Formats: sequence, C-alpha cells, structure tokens
Amino acid sequence: DFSQDSALKTTALEKLNSVFGYQSFRKGQQEVIHAALNKQDSLVVMATGNGKSLCYQIPALCFSGLTLVISPLISLMKDQVDQLLTNGIAADYLNSTQTFEQQQQVQSMAMSGQLKLLYLSPEKITTQSFFHFISQCQVSFIAIDEAHCISQWGHDFRPEYTQLGGLKSCFPDAPIMALTATADETTRRDILFHLKLQTPHIYIGSFDRPNIRYMLVEKFKPMEQLCQFVLGQKGKSGIVYCNSRNKVERIAESLRKKGVAAQAYHAGMDNALRERVQRDFQRDNVQVVVATIAFGMGINKSNVRFVAHFDLPRSIEAYYQETGRAGRDDLPAEAVLFYEPADYAWLQKMLLEKPETPQRQIEQHKLQAIGEFAESQTCRRLVLLNYFGEMRQTPCNNCDICLDPPKKYNGLIDAQKVMSAVYRVGQRFGVHYVVAVLRGLQNQKIKDNGHDTLSVFGIGKDRSKEYWQSVIRQLVHLGLLRQVVDQYNSTLQLTENAKPVLRGECELELATPRISSVITRTA
Ligand code: ADP
Ligand code: ZN
Repeated sequence: DFSQDSALKTTALEKLNSVFGYQSFRKGQQEVIHAALNKQDSLVVMATGNGKSLCYQIPALCFSGLTLVISPLISLMKDQVDQLLTNGIAADYLNSTQTFEQQQQVQSMAMSGQLKLLYLSPEKITTQSFFHFISQCQVSFIAIDEAHCISQWGHDFRPEYTQLGGLKSCFPDAPIMALTATADETTRRDILFHLKLQTPHIYIGSFDRPNIRYMLVEKFKPMEQLCQFVLGQKGKSGIVYCNSRNKVERIAESLRKKGVAAQAYHAGMDNALRERVQRDFQRDNVQVVVATIAFGMGINKSNVRFVAHFDLPRSIEAYYQETGRAGRDDLPAEAVLFYEPADYAWLQKMLLEKPETPQRQIEQHKLQAIGEFAESQTCRRLVLLNYFGEMRQTPCNNCDICLDPPKKYNGLIDAQKVMSAVYRVGQRFGVHYVVAVLRGLQNQKIKDNGHDTLSVFGIGKDRSKEYWQSVIRQLVHLGLLRQVVDQYNSTLQLTENAKPVLRGECELELATPRISSVITRTA
C-alpha cells in the first residue's frame, strides 16, 4: 500500500533527523530499513564504517515492541548501549559480565516494555531460562550483527551462533535482519540457510574505498623503508601492523629514535597501558601506533591517514579490515603493504605445522588469496573487489600498479645469469648469497667456498642488490627457481622448467624491477 509505504519512509527519516541528528541516509540504509519496516527478513552486507548500526536501530524505534540485537563483542555492546542512552533511547544489554541481580533488573525492564533495544551475546540465547524470559517480552524485531560468525567458512566462526537458527520459529512474526561486513558467496548462503530467513531482502553494498590508495612495496631493507615511509607522512596519524609482539616493540623503538611519536600496542601489554595508548592515539597525542592485530577493533578515529603492513596479513579479509581503518573521513589515505615472498612462505609453513583440519584448509585458501593479491600484476583494487564478489573491470588509477605499471623487458640474459650462479654454487645457497656472487662481493664466506673463482662471479656487478633480488623473486614466481625452506636456511634450486631457459631455447619476459624505496603521494 503506497501511502502506508511513504508514511514508513517519513517516520524513518524523521527518526534519523530527530534522534540521531543526521541529515540523510547513506547508501543502502534506507532500503534495508524499509524492508524491515515491511516485516521482511533481510541480509545486509556493508563494509565497516558505512553505518550498519542505524539499519536496525531506526526500525527498532519505529516498532512498538522490543528489538533484540545479537552481538558477539561484549565491549562494543556496552559502547553501543551507552551511545543509544546518550541519544535518549532506552537500551540495555545482557551478557556474562553482569551479576545475577543486574540481569534480573534488565529482564524485568524488558518484560514491562520499558526497553526499545536489548543487546545480547549469543551464548545467552542458548539457555532454557532465557527462552522462559523472552517469551514474556513483546519482540518486534531481531538484528543479528556479525552474522558471518554463523558460518564455518567465515573467518570468525562462533559455535554459539549456530543456535540462532531457533529464533525464527520462536518469533515467527518478528523480521530478522542479519548484518555483516565480510561475506563471500559461501558465507552469505550459510547465513541465509542457518538463520532460516524467509524470502529475504538482500543488500550487498560496495566494498570500494576509493579514497584509499593501495600500495605494495617490495621489502629490501624493510625497517629503513618503513621509517622512510612514516617520516614522509610528516606527522600524519597512522597505524603500522606487524605479526609479532617483538617486532612491534622494535619498530616503535626505531620510529621513536627518528623522532616519530610512536607507541607499541599488543596483547602482552597490561590493560591500563593499552587503554592509554588507544586514548592518546585517539586524541592525536601519539602519531603512530605499531600494533599486532589486537589493535583496532573498538577504534573509531576518522583521520587515520595511513595504515602500513610490515608483514603480510593472513587473509584478504584481514587486510581489507585493517586498511579500512584509514581514511574514514573520506579524505585521501594510504595503505602500504611491505612484502617479500619469504613472508608468505613463512605463514604457509606455520599453517602446515597445524593439525590437518577443515579449518586449516580454509585458512590455506585464504592465505593463498592474499599471496596472489601480493603477486598480482593487475590493479590491486580490482583484485580486492573481485575477491569480495564485486566484479569490476576498470582499473582504479589509485594503486601502485595503476600509477606505476610494471614494465616488461626481455629477461632471458638476466635469468641465465641467475640460474648459472644458482647452479655453480651447488644449489645450496639462498638469495643473498647468490646475489653476492653475482655482484662479485669479496666476502669471507664466498672466498672460503672458493666461489670468487667461478665464471659467474661478478657477472651482475652492474646492477644493484635489489635488482637481482627482484629478478630472483620473479623466477621463483614463474616456477623456474624453487626456494626450499627448512628450519634454518632457504636455498635456491633449479626446477625442471629451468632447462630451456638455460639453453636459451625460449623467450622470457620479466617485469623491470621496481625499486622505489620511497613512496609518497604524488597527487
Ligand atoms: P558499521 O557498524 O557499519 O561499521 P557504524 O554503524 O558504526 O558502522 O557507523 C559508522 C559511523 O557512521 C558512526 O559514527 C555513525 O554514527 C555514522 N553514520 C551512520 N549512518 C550515518 C548517516 N546516515 N549520516 C551520517 N553519519 C552516519
Ligand atoms: Zn588500481
């Protein structure tokens, strides 16, 4: 019915203005709010920061009864409730941090109709006493945040979430809205299936963050490159992620030595200290936080100008989420990934040491995808967006590949030089050693091994170390060389495919090594 329809729209907009003080809806919000008000189930896939909360908070205000919000993160739950209370909305939560008396009090408020929104952690819903309590409430609407947690295929599976499938039969008249920021096709299907959503309205927002410039920088002297990059940011706020506490400390120290106000943040620090770092960062008293992935969940800072990854993240989802903390204010921001193939090999090795489970297999797929992202020679943004199922074809002109396209050259001679060197040193040495031989370095190890007398010694002295490293990486990537990694060493060996190249029986294109150690925005 048209007039009722437009009345609903007016009410939603009116709540947006009067309660939240915002002028207009963002993309997607209105349509999913509308679906909920029409009592339709829905699945909302929206990138972090685009405003998922309002999608269920506004219908919650329009319905006469209670809205249940299922959310797995207890700390965020409290933030949300506090924010709603500030806006004059009756909201509360039930979770394991509360005493029995506190929970009793919240429950009686809910039963007597004094609450509009009730936030719940998923494990609450699995208990018998909960169902007894909730059957005495008038539930109008149910929102399930972080809905990907229901899927084993997602990156954050939570067993309690599988219980949420019971909600539909419990409240057949209350529409359910499932929300998530990360969901590939399989996860989406899993959400619909497990929650038993009926003819749902599906909204899938764009994952593009056009103001973020994606840059990949090959690691040569990583610490120097990182410091140079951060100094180039001239005091702008940023986050550096790396994957060990030890490195976090070392990087923060190096940056401080160069005069950057940098602080470490990781799970090994006590709570008070972590909170202080977070607060100082929020208030711009700290310019750079160097962190393990533990940092960022609750952070809501809009002027983060750069996010640098010192190590390769474990998945594209993680990379996207972490880089997504940059440029929330829609102004230009930079995401820089420092990469070397050895990082990938290391992550893979760690993974293969775990017991072989379906979970491990999923993690392997995800690792492979981020590896392909790093090795890709096409627009970074296209690779990212295509990964999230948002098929695009037009390059973005705002990533390292678009701005500085890899140039090809006839790499046969270079490849032969490298391969001969690998062969002559007995296929028993790693990248650095082979490069040193190529460049004719007079070091003790080379002399002791008698490798300074080889015909290949010094045949590549006209090129830099980084140049040869890059050529070797490409040869590994092309399957002409193999990097064998054991506990202590990594050695280069020739593969079967190397023969025709060594004999000069084929052509070989390589990308001109891109050795830009400094990267600054040119625009
Ligand atoms: P998400 O849950 O998708 O990560 P949030 O719901 O936390 O995002 O919203 C991110 C920010 O955007 C919040 O500060 C929120 O108040 C703001 N916001 C959401 N919708 C609007 C809107 N229509 N107009 C202006 N700001 C909005
Ligand atoms: Zn691009």
